[in-house]
Amino acid sequence: LLPILLHLYIYRRATPTTLPTFLLLGPSGSGKTALLTLAERAQAATTRTSTSPLAVEALLPDGLTPASSSYRSAGDPAFERARRFQLIDTPGHGKLRHYAISKLANPTNVRGIIFVVDAASVADETGLNEAAEYLHDVLLALQKRYTGAKTSKGPTEIPVLIAANKSDLFTALPPHLIKLSLEKAISNVRKSRATGLKESGAVLTADQGDLEEEREWLGEGGEGPFEFWQMEEVGMSVDVRGGNVVGTDGADVKTWFKWIADQL
Ligand code: GDP
Repeated sequence: LLPILLHLYIYRRATPTTLPTFLLLGPSGSGKTALLTLAERAQAATTRTSTSPLAVEALLPDGLTPASSSYRSAGDPAFERARRFQLIDTPGHGKLRHYAISKLANPTNVRGIIFVVDAASVADETGLNEAAEYLHDVLLALQKRYTGAKTSKGPTEIPVLIAANKSDLFTALPPHLIKLSLEKAISNVRKSRATGLKESGAVLTADQGDLEEEREWLGEGGEGPFEFWQMEEVGMSVDVRGGNVVGTDGADVKTWFKWIADQL
């Protein structure tokens, strides 16, 4: 058994996944698994290697050009290689979120985060707050990674796509309203988290300096409302784009794949 295990180990070490990777995050029920399945099926005609149930290798659909290959033409081997990427699904359940968020601390090959929200469920307060809390934590983890980096160059930028899914539903909010609603809800999350910290700090009589340093404040230091553009200062662009994975008229995921193409 040992030689076999050793062989497997060496094999795995020798063939690391170097594909550009996109992490799928978001509340459960938002459509992450459906999107993963769609991406996998879309390239079922070509050779496919699923690395694990939660990760699939996918191919940029025809007609989209990877940003790094804009001067090459389809058929060029380098162009074809650049079309390949990996999507990794992460659990959206509350208790498993730390797993997803911990992945953000050291994201090897991660080119972007796709945060999937249910465009209909964010129309009500419960759904909106759930998405906002999760998104707040994801953005804060990315911000800490950026501000905590020791190199003078700083870490590579990680763009975030908020995929407003289920736009086929009658009750779905349009992307611009989702953006405004999330920004407002994240402002509230940010405020309540800061209050919680202050209260625990008072009990601990902690060193004020340390407390300042560990301030878990997302985005700009000011007390004004949170807006996504504030994340640009910490190496993140945040885009909100609508689409749907399933629906009576079929899937519409063009805007998301276009975003992926821009990161490749
Ligand atoms: P996950 O928990 O984020 O992985 O969510 P799933 O992929 O399991 O999707 C949850 C439910 O939403 C499933 O019943 C899907 O069929 C449904 N769903 C996913 N995408 C869409 C969509 O674009 N439109 C509609 N109407 N339903 C969707």
